[in-house]
Order: sequence, then C-alpha cells, then structure tokens
Amino acid sequence: MKKIDRRDFLKLGVGSIAAAAFAGPTLTSCGNSSNTRPRAVRKGRLEMKFAPYVVELRHKFTISGFSRDTTTVILIEVSYDGVIGYGEAALPPYMTGQTLETATAFLNKVNLSQFSNPFQLEDILTYIDGIEPGMSCPKAGIDIALNDLVGKLLDHPLYEIWGYNKDKTPCTSFTIGMDTEEMIRQKVHEAAPYKILKVKLGSTELNDKMIVNTIRSETDKPIIVDANQGWKDKHYALEMINWLSEKDVRLVEQPMPKTVIDDMAWVTEHSPLPTFADEACQRLVDIPRLYGLFSGINIKLIKCTGLREANKMIAMARCYGMKVMIGCTTETSCAISAAAQLTPMVDFADIDGNLLITNDCFDGMHIVNGRITLNDRPGIGVMKV
Ligand code: MG
Repeated sequence: MKKIDRRDFLKLGVGSIAAAAFAGPTLTSCGNSSNTRPRAVRKGRLEMKFAPYVVELRHKFTISGFSRDTTTVILIEVSYDGVIGYGEAALPPYMTGQTLETATAFLNKVNLSQFSNPFQLEDILTYIDGIEPGMSCPKAGIDIALNDLVGKLLDHPLYEIWGYNKDKTPCTSFTIGMDTEEMIRQKVHEAAPYKILKVKLGSTELNDKMIVNTIRSETDKPIIVDANQGWKDKHYALEMINWLSEKDVRLVEQPMPKTVIDDMAWVTEHSPLPTFADEACQRLVDIPRLYGLFSGINIKLIKCTGLREANKMIAMARCYGMKVMIGCTTETSCAISAAAQLTPMVDFADIDGNLLITNDCFDGMHIVNGRITLNDRPGIGVMKV
C-alpha cells in the first residue's frame, strides 16, 4: 500500500517540511464593519474551577491487559464575563499514566486570570501546554472548556465556526469489550441501535476468534477491531488480520506494540485491512514518523491535549494521505460532544464513551439511527443535566 519507501520519504525531509509549514484551522472572531451587527462589548478575566467526578460503567470494561468498572474524570469550568465553558479531563488508568493527583497538581499550576481575551486561544493554549511536558488529559479538559466558552461567546457551534458540515458526520462504532461468550451475545443485543461494532481483541488466538465468531453468529454488522498492542509477532498479527478480513472487519487498530517499528511497517504493507495507530499516536508531532507504519491514526482529545491540536492532526494526516479516526475513552457527554464537533472531517468515529456509562451528567450530541447527530447549541453543544 506504500506509495514510496518510508526511509526514502524521510530522507527527502518531507516530514519536517510538512510539520514546519503546517497550520491548522484558526478561529475567526466577528468583524465590526458597517454592515455587520455590532458585537456586545465584554470585559473581564478568565477564571477556572474544577472538581473530580467518578464515571460508572454499565459493564466491567476489559481490554488486552486491563479491566475496570469506573473511570475518574475531572470536570472543568472556564468562565468569562458570566459565560461558562465546560470541559472534561478523563483519566483512564491504562492509557496515559496520569492520575487524579497528578492532573489536579497540574490544574493548580494554571493561572488563566492573566488572560483577558478568551479568543486568543493560540496564546492561552500554548501557555498551558508549556507549563510542563505531558499532562495531556488536564490540558485537553481546559482546551475543551475554552473552546466551548468561545463558541458560546460567538453564539455558534464549534463545527460551524470551523466550517464543518454537520450533515457529514459518520456513524459511531459501539464497543464490545472482552467477555464471555454469553456476555458478548448480550452486548451484541444491547448494541442494536448502532451500525458498527468495535471489538477489543489481543489476548489468545482461541479467545479472539471466539469473540469474533460469537458476534458473527448474532449479526452481520461491520466490525472494527482494536488489538490494543496485543499481538507480539508480525506473522501472527498478519495471520489474524487475514482471518479478520474474511469476517467483514473494516480496520485493525494498534495490532502490535507501539515500540515495534519495522515489523509494524511490514504488517501494514501486507495487510488487506487498513491499520490504525492508537497507542503509537499521541500528538501532532508523532504523525510524520507514522507514515508508512500505519494506514491511519486514531485521535483522542485526552492524548493530544484537545480540540486545537486535534484539528491540526486531522489536517496533517490528510497531508500524508492517511485515514483518520476519532476515538474516546469512557467519559461523559461533555468530552464526547467536544470530539463529535470534529467528526464531519473523519473517516471513522468511535465516540461511544458516554453510552457505556450510567451517570452521564451532560446532555449533548446524540446518536440517531446509529449516526452522530450534532445539535445547534453553541460551543460543544452541551447542557448540564
Ligand atoms: Mg485503541
């Protein structure tokens, strides 16, 4: 599937040129010429507050290597002149290593009151990213809240501000974690409203094939597979992908460990299905080195520090001819609705995290006939419930 050899490509220096020359979409604030409505004059300083919240899962969630029945998140509010933007920093234990303690310590270092213009997102978010390395989850939570605030101040949904067409949203996949045969059958029935199933594989061959065969005995819906780095040998990984390709599987996410480079390139080159980087793709800077290793990337707000960088990642991946998926973790409709704003621009969406929990404290985007349906509310489109 490679158009040119990856090493030749990197020798050309195209990766660094693309990275340096790249610029994502920028927000345009309202003009005030004679034929536009005068803007309300707003004044003030940004203020932030936050509190932890424990999201409870409908079923114990098991993937290759981990199992849990709750996820801790931090709910964030950024206010300006009486308008409040909502954000959320989910802290799934297996994904980033960030904890409630470390994320809280980071948030306590943030001083938003130094900013008096919430539209200067590039300045504000560059400051936040520079406070310390890592800490992508709380950074994403602040980014979501700031973007929500800006949308509310402009009185438009973010997808509209960015120029995206809400009629182009895809269907979301619905995730079925590793489980017993009986529970998988039950979960397939619970997934009746959704048109694509996402399956977590990556344990033993017997178990992986049991999961897929059980689903196939219940439904012929398309499946996307996430091996969560579970297949360690390139020949075995390709053998599994070849088997899956005969089961109407549409893509395979992170088949091998993120540190595996040459073997992953070999698997992608021979794979009949597109391969997507998840654990191997955290931020914008990762994309040039993933060209040739994977067919596409899975963007998650808590990995990439939020909407600003996610928008840039979509555009950069397109520069490389790579496919784009947007994913999530188990989180409320706050973070899910934020991610949903980007979905008119992606090939696959896996934003079902709010559907897998029992105590959602926001109302936002909805799934209608399996499809992500954006509302007309400003910002990320959420209300507290
Ligand atoms: Mg994944």
